[in-house]
Amino acid sequence: MIVLTTINELQAFTRTGSKLGLVPTMGALHAGHASLMYRSIKECDQTVVSIFVNPTQFDTAEDLRSYPRTLDKDVELSDAAGVDAVFAPSAHELYPNKQRAWVDVEGMTDVLCGAKRPGHFRGVTTVVSKLFNIIRPTHAYFGQKDAQQVLVIKRMALDLNIPINILTCPTLREPDGLAISSRNVHLSSIERQRALCISHALAAASTAFEGGESQVDKLSKILQDVLLPDVDRLDYAEFRDALTLESVNNITAETLVAIAAYVGNTRLIDNITITPSSS
Ligand code: AMP
Repeated sequence: MIVLTTINELQAFTRTGSKLGLVPTMGALHAGHASLMYRSIKECDQTVVSIFVNPTQFDTAEDLRSYPRTLDKDVELSDAAGVDAVFAPSAHELYPNKQRAWVDVEGMTDVLCGAKRPGHFRGVTTVVSKLFNIIRPTHAYFGQKDAQQVLVIKRMALDLNIPINILTCPTLREPDGLAISSRNVHLSSIERQRALCISHALAAASTAFEGGESQVDKLSKILQDVLLPDVDRLDYAEFRDALTLESVNNITAETLVAIAAYVGNTRLIDNITITPSSS
């Protein structure tokens, strides 16, 4: 495996005319990222993992500063997974000029995380567009863990006619149900226990839905009852159409149940989809 830091090196390395898979990440890699790599390796001829802590998608300087950076370990994990290259450019390599062109996906980015993190998705769609233009992958792999992100990127590719297959991979969890995240390292052991309320809340809503409850106000109450005793701040716990992210009152089609909450100072997100048996 090779580690590339410049656009020129990357473009000299990739082969055109074959299936090229991209796994875009911000590093601090874990088993969730590795699951995306395995899928790309299985489906593509070459796999590139990008590692870039993208400054334009952070809404606070403190969040950007404290984001975990573990490049040496990330390179080891990528090598062990079997990818062909890690692309780890500097901020100057990706943003050599003051950025004046931005990619914006309207509507879907002003709800859920977009409502709480102004400018976040503009930063994500802009950097992912840059990576698509630099690397020219035929396939790109994203996690369901960031459900809104993958929906926004799919819509960006559709509306801008970007010739790429965007694939969604399932959320990898710890044995006790906590969604694996680079941010979990910030949790103290007590916070780590309290963080379980997020996957428990999702499971409780799913069980109630399977038991016949389809009214969102009732299901919301179930989420809140499980979450509120254990989280320090609830950003949102919402039910939205799993394709359009429009809000729903009654579940009649595939629905995203999405939570963002602070445990201590750590912001965690998680989600599931629930689907009526007839749809
Ligand atoms: P990040 O480095 O956190 O920006 O994530 C890079 C990619 O890995 C995104 O597509 C995430 O959705 C995905 N990812 C992060 N955590 C997980 C997880 N636990 N399971 C599956 N994919 C994940």
